[in-house]
Amino acid sequence: MPTDPETGYDETLGNKFVFVTGGVMSGLGKGITAASTGRLLANAGFDVTAVKVDPYLNVDAGTMNPFQHGEVYVLKDGGEVDLDLGNYERFLDIDMTSDHNVTTGKVYRSVIEKERAGDYLGKTVQVIPHITDDIKRRIREVARGSDVCIVEVGGTVGDIEGMPYLEALRQFAHEQADEDILFVHVTLIPYSTNGEQKTKPTQHSVKELRSIGLQPDVLVGRCDDPLDPKTKEKIALFCDVPTDAVFSNPDVEDIYQVPLVVEDEGLDEYVTSELDLADRALPESERESGWRELVTQEQTGHVDVALVGKYGLEDAYISVYEALKHAGLAHNVNVDTEWVHSENFADGHEGDLNDVDAVVVPGGFGSRGTEGKIEAIRNARENDIPYLGLCLGFQMAVVEYARNVLGLDGAHSAEIDEETPHPVIDILPEQEGVDDMGGTMRLGAHVTEIESGTVAHEVYGDASATERHRHRYEVNPEYIDGLEAAGLRFSGESGRRMEILELPEHPYFLGTQFHPEFRSRPTRASPPFVGLLDAALDLQSGGADRDAGEVEL
Ligand code: GLN
Repeated sequence: MPTDPETGYDETLGNKFVFVTGGVMSGLGKGITAASTGRLLANAGFDVTAVKVDPYLNVDAGTMNPFQHGEVYVLKDGGEVDLDLGNYERFLDIDMTSDHNVTTGKVYRSVIEKERAGDYLGKTVQVIPHITDDIKRRIREVARGSDVCIVEVGGTVGDIEGMPYLEALRQFAHEQADEDILFVHVTLIPYSTNGEQKTKPTQHSVKELRSIGLQPDVLVGRCDDPLDPKTKEKIALFCDVPTDAVFSNPDVEDIYQVPLVVEDEGLDEYVTSELDLADRALPESERESGWRELVTQEQTGHVDVALVGKYGLEDAYISVYEALKHAGLAHNVNVDTEWVHSENFADGHEGDLNDVDAVVVPGGFGSRGTEGKIEAIRNARENDIPYLGLCLGFQMAVVEYARNVLGLDGAHSAEIDEETPHPVIDILPEQEGVDDMGGTMRLGAHVTEIESGTVAHEVYGDASATERHRHRYEVNPEYIDGLEAAGLRFSGESGRRMEILELPEHPYFLGTQFHPEFRSRPTRASPPFVGLLDAALDLQSGGADRDAGEVEL
């Protein structure tokens, strides 16, 4: 059967789909539950991919305020997407593209463009079938080539914005064979004051699902503890699923333990068997077990890291926290990352970096808190504290050096001080006159050539690195000679662009114009982060060189 151009349906493809919805309240971690199940399916030899559906009208997350919405995650193709895609990339160890984040903005935009082009041949363009067809086509396009595609619908069942998506999923189930589709519904199981696990909110949520024609196949209860057998039975009875289709997802200390919890519960086995994939799964003995080993390994040390940024923005840097954790896993140590308000350093306040082993200044926009960040960088530079600057943290390291070592009073980034006498960081030439905010920065993966004999070369172990970008400003080429003559070294370039800086005499002072945190994985930590911890651990052991060769990058 040829592919249906509207819905993308092609029965010869044989993709399987796991649709994950959420009930009772948002923020339950249904993405982590879904990604963890995906991880186990990948361990069993399946090619797994994922789609995150965000029912908002923004075309992408690029224009969303990180104070409200958390991190904007950047993909290799430059897609600025929901932070959940970061979790899918980290858990599944895949590289996604913007197509993996379906938003209402994208769907309506393409339907309206088709309407304007006259492609609907005079028909009335409607939510059903035109919007729902576009949703199905997008999901099927991403799934093409994979064995299992996990589709997570953001928000909770009952939200008005989510309705067209749930209707599209209902049609999916109608069009495809039973064994191709599995509906997983994740809800909250709260405790009553007398310590009883309560199922009523779940029952209501499933009732809501059924009223729009969706019957969940699997229920996952998010709860402080594992669900009691009695709770499972009650859910099974009222929600009309077998008892063994009800799973617990209790709180765990660290999200990377969730695949182990899900495995112990047997969720992956159940999914495999319901999707009729059991006889294609690798036998237990041949499955990938690296994840379990990584998560359960005994830690041999501890590193304290200060992440310096604006007050209230902690949640916008999930990938930085995770990359530090990955570097810890590579070194077999626990990493404790503490958010330090950059305001603490402003106006002569020293801030508190006395007890930390390393300092990170992450990316950011706008002027608030920058003086504090510059002070924190000075502190790290002068006191030999290992430092990693990411994007804005790289740019502010240039500003700090220009002011305090070159003596260029008032040096700044033109983004923050348009009147600065020394714009050591200036707008990228191609950004001049760009007024549109959405998707117009220098975005996505670009190759950086790395000079040999540098720290960057040592940490990457390579003469080039491909990392993701998201910026409008760069080091002003007019100041490069002066900065280098004063001891700062630019060790990586991409065309005329300075991409990496370092201080040869410092235990570890590295800045990157790119964001290495977006390529870091639990099983493949990002080199600049591994290098940071390496230096911190060296200093802890009094400079005795820990064998860096032990760490596989
Ligand atoms: N605001 C800076 C720029 O646009 C840094 C961006 C960032 O840190 N992601 O260049």
